[in-house]
Amino acid sequence: MARRRKLYEGKAKVLYEGPEPGTLIQYFKDDATAFNNQKKGIITGKGVLNNRISEFLMTRLTEIGVPTHFMRRLNMREQLVREVEIIPISLVVRNVAAGSIAKRFGIEEGTVLPRSIIEYYYKSDDLGDPMVTEEHITAFGWAGTQDLDDMVALALRINDFLIGLFLGVGLRLVDFKLEFGRLYNEHDEVQVVVADEISPDNCRLWDIRTNEKMDKDRFRRDLGGVEEAYQEVARRLGVLPEAGPMDLKGPQAMQ
Ligand code: UDP
Repeated sequence: MARRRKLYEGKAKVLYEGPEPGTLIQYFKDDATAFNNQKKGIITGKGVLNNRISEFLMTRLTEIGVPTHFMRRLNMREQLVREVEIIPISLVVRNVAAGSIAKRFGIEEGTVLPRSIIEYYYKSDDLGDPMVTEEHITAFGWAGTQDLDDMVALALRINDFLIGLFLGVGLRLVDFKLEFGRLYNEHDEVQVVVADEISPDNCRLWDIRTNEKMDKDRFRRDLGGVEEAYQEVARRLGVLPEAGPMDLKGPQAMQ
């Protein structure tokens, strides 16, 4: 393969220069981290599965008119995406108490929240992604009020849509994290779009019948069966690679 320029290496993905200006190649690794990098490991086949799962979810979102950076999947571990200006704020949308909200407010995990709650986190590894308010975000100029309005409107729409989509395959969407970026058109108009990935790495998904965790919490909490959980999510969504996640045949025909 021709050498290409690596632009960024993150915890779970690598970004390479894309074939056209304004595009990037997003490569999905098997590496997993938790607790701000304190726990590290490999989840075999995760990159292949997340590539497929995220492709599936981003495509469904595009179909309902939610703008995303996703263009197309290229092969087992890579997808072509639009280059965006990343907004340094992650949005977490919560439907059921779990993880940090359960701990912070002493709510029992599994309690259904009175309504969907959105939280903002400032993206900074050095600071451990602190939770911030709209005041911090606008005062420090991380995003403007229009960006925030757009991000919240998109997040709520995505939440309603994904709750239904996952319910249809027997999974409860407990919470998830979204990243956004700004895309500029030729008239210099800006559009806020969903970036990064949507996968069991950044969603909490519980089996509707058994409440079994089918996401990265299996890795975070040493519950075992991590690979199987990711595979099961992919299988239920109908995107499990035929020969399994270890299929290394290379690029396959797109459906
Ligand atoms: N999340 C994420 N990346 C992070 C922190 C959280 O994708 O750096 C996701 C996580 O998978 C969960 C949701 O955001 O679906 C809420 O996570 P929480 O704040 O409860 O933190 P955690 O318990 O994961 O530390």
